[in-house]
Amino acid sequence: MISALEALERLREGNGRFVSDIWGRDADTSHARRSELLEGQEPFAIILGCSDSRAPAEIVFDQGLGDLFVIRVAGNIVAPSQIGSIEFAASKFGTRLVVVLGHTQCGAVEATLEQLQQPAEEQSRNLRSIVDRVRPSVEALAATELKNDPEALVGQAVRANVCASVDHLRHGSEILEQLIREDALLIVGAEYSLETGVVEFFNGLPEGS
Ligand SMILES: [Zn+2]
Repeated sequence: MISALEALERLREGNGRFVSDIWGRDADTSHARRSELLEGQEPFAIILGCSDSRAPAEIVFDQGLGDLFVIRVAGNIVAPSQIGSIEFAASKFGTRLVVVLGHTQCGAVEATLEQLQQPAEEQSRNLRSIVDRVRPSVEALAATELKNDPEALVGQAVRANVCASVDHLRHGSEILEQLIREDALLIVGAEYSLETGVVEFFNGLPEGS
């Protein structure tokens, strides 16, 4: 298995190809690759991303079959099943890098901000379970001067929500904590820009990377 930093580099290169519109040439999605993977998988990165149709991890990082272990859920929130999926991949495949991938204009973050401003009674319990997980990280922001600048508020709230998920993963699982202590797992935060296609890594990067 490649190291977390090598994995990070591979993601950066793949995103560079995507941004330059030369993606799809290196990513192996061939029948031959599919057959090869019947022997087993060794995904080099775990991505916890949002379900938003405009932010598909394999495409924005230009990766093929067997490359990424992807968990997608609205608002890239962390609930027990997400932690379990990450524990599974990190333990079973030895994958060293986890990326929490938020994105600009995230509907789940916007819905949470709206809910804070104008609580709606009729929200379904299931939807509320997502909003409730986003709420703690954005509530304080919504009480600042940012409330007068909705665009900036959403921008900062998206990042705060990514940081909250990163933090939760770092401290919400004995298995993951143990791997982090052994230097066998790196968890970082990132934001995908719907506007430019660029993924910016901004939380948990080792110095100089
Ligand atoms: Zn989203």
